[in-house]
Amino acid sequence: CPANLFKFCSDLVEELQLGDGKKHTIEFIKKFECNTIYMDEKLLRSILSNLLSNAIKYSSKGSIVQLIVYCHLKDIVFQVKDCGIGIPAEDIPRLFDPFHRARNVNDIPGTGLGMAIVKKAVDLHRGQITVNSQIDVGTIFTVILPLK
Ligand code: ATP
Ligand code: MG
Repeated sequence: CPANLFKFCSDLVEELQLGDGKKHTIEFIKKFECNTIYMDEKLLRSILSNLLSNAIKYSSKGSIVQLIVYCHLKDIVFQVKDCGIGIPAEDIPRLFDPFHRARNVNDIPGTGLGMAIVKKAVDLHRGQITVNSQIDVGTIFTVILPLK
């Protein structure tokens, strides 16, 4: 469990910002008071780094990517938001299938495995993941994990 969720998230955002060739503005917005949470740090890292790297990869240079974190009742909520290419409605049902990639990826490289890993990690935490997306407007992934 990351002892300090704030530091964990800000370090992760900083790490991705450093590795970002497209120079997005990656923002960490925290709206929580609960710093002590119990969850597997490696699983949380794989969830957030996959979602954030997709947000970076599928949105254009100079745009804003946000990680928003807050507590709600007995859950912790993570949202990853981008202003990118969006996901076609027809591809949403297969989003978590290994090797499935949406029809609008064009020449953006990828193997289609990241979201399958995210789904597995969320399930291991007994959490939920939902997506809201609009073509050429952007995508928001919401991950809800029980605080225990
Ligand atoms: P990789 O295995 O390297 O992560 P990938 O990014 O193609 O490859 P996933 O992360 O599993 O694969 O994502 C599956 C598909 O979902 C992507 O190919 C893309 O079509 C779509 N997708 C995921 N996140 C986004 C996003 N933020 N914006 C637009 N499309 C997305
Ligand atoms: Mg990916």
